[in-house]
Amino acid sequence: MYCNYCGKVIQDDAAVCAYCGIRVGASLARTKLLRPRLGRKIAGVCLGFSEYFDIDVTVVRVVWLVTAIMTCVGFVPYIIAWIVMPEEPLLISAPVSVQQVTNP
Ligand SMILES: [Zn+2]
Repeated sequence: MYCNYCGKVIQDDAAVCAYCGIRVGASLARTKLLRPRLGRKIAGVCLGFSEYFDIDVTVVRVVWLVTAIMTCVGFVPYIIAWIVMPEEPLLISAPVSVQQVTNP
C-alpha cells in the first residue's frame, strides 16, 4: 500500500510509515463504520465510532452518555446505530497470522 502523506510504497501490514513516521495502518483499515467484535462494552457502537474517527473510545462513550442525558432522546440514537452499523467480519486477519506462524 501507499503512505497517504509521503506517497511512498510501504508494507501492507505496516502500522507506521517507515519514511515519514505517520501512523497509517489503523486509519487505512477503518474506512467503514463497523462495530468491532473485540473490546466492545455493549454493542461496539462507541468503539466503532472511535476507530472510524480515530479518537479515544472513552471520549466517544462520554459524549454518547452526555448527549443521551442532555437531549432527552435517551439511547435511541445508540439503538439506531446498533441496528444500522454492520458488524466487523469475523476473524478478518486470521489467515495472514496463521501463515506467518507456520511459514516463518
Ligand atoms: Zn509516509
